[in-house]
Amino acid sequence: MLYEINEKALKLESEGKKIIRLNLGDPDMATPPEIVEAAYASMKAGKTKYSSSYGELRLRQKIAEVHGVKAENVVITPGSKWAIFSTMFLMLKSGGNVIIPTPYWTAYDLIAKSFGAKVKLLRTEMENGWNVDLEKLEGLIDSETKMIILNNPNNPTSKVMDSKTLDGIVEIANKKGITILSDEVYGAIAFNKTKSILDYGTDSKHILSNGFSKTFTMTGWRIGYVVANKTLIDNITKLNQITFNNVPVFIQDAALKGLELHAQIASNIKAKYKARADIASQKLSAAGFKFTSPDAPFYVFPKRDGLDGTKFTLDLLDRGVAVAPGSSFGEYPEHFRISLTAPDDQIEEGLTKICEAPS
Ligand code: PMP
Repeated sequence: MLYEINEKALKLESEGKKIIRLNLGDPDMATPPEIVEAAYASMKAGKTKYSSSYGELRLRQKIAEVHGVKAENVVITPGSKWAIFSTMFLMLKSGGNVIIPTPYWTAYDLIAKSFGAKVKLLRTEMENGWNVDLEKLEGLIDSETKMIILNNPNNPTSKVMDSKTLDGIVEIANKKGITILSDEVYGAIAFNKTKSILDYGTDSKHILSNGFSKTFTMTGWRIGYVVANKTLIDNITKLNQITFNNVPVFIQDAALKGLELHAQIASNIKAKYKARADIASQKLSAAGFKFTSPDAPFYVFPKRDGLDGTKFTLDLLDRGVAVAPGSSFGEYPEHFRISLTAPDDQIEEGLTKICEAPS
């Protein structure tokens, strides 16, 4: 439904209708100019050739420094989507199941199913602060379970997992010998302190996927990475060799510039999104929607009891606002997701229309 709504929004736009696009997590802001300049300088310096399928050593070293690991534990991928796909493919292609808490980013489920891995969904509820129930998690694990996927902060709820719950999940995974893949693509710009999977030791079998899309407004550049044990890094690299070979070196140089300016860039981006999240929270609360207040940028996932989220989303599109129905993230028909990734005035207008729409 997420992709259908997007196609419909594009079609309406092509017919001349004005659509306020609050349906995708693609920031309206431009990539910071220092990053663009770094790419241009790198291209002019001739960095336009094939290169290592591990990624450029300087970038891997910088990422390793950020996370307190060694460069041999880092591989560069085209977006964190490929980081997630390649990790799941390598770990699950020969069978087994993966546990995914919901609401979830749809791609995890679609990726698993694309090579026949079984998915076990672990439902969480807004009324319970979107917390994972540890007993339920333990009950879902069986002899075929190979992986648990965590998305912290979460898309679509923007919830940061509380550290006690994360401690509990890691303890269960360690006890049962199961690998956690932690997708922390929103972690560096969270409003609240987010504990990383790497805080549990860098010599464990758990895996971090991360990327530059959200922190540095680089969605279209396609660059991300995996931090993991050397064996998995070597295996992902082999997959890289037979597919895309390497992320263009000039894009890696640009990402390195982003990391060098990280503190400044991330704090600007965070401040901008915090202001948007505050306005959205205010308006949605006043209109009677229920939601957990966002701990991270980009998304709010409101609910209204009895709402038909799909109908609401389609009606709203006719009124010129695109959002994503809750059913795109699991069985959440009374919810919908708003992405605060449009210019401020459009967000305000979109929120007004959302709050006025009949449900
Ligand atoms: N993980 C999550 C939770 C996301 O929302 C997204 C993008 N929507 C990604 C990963 C992929 O991001 P990218 O491939 O651009 O790094």
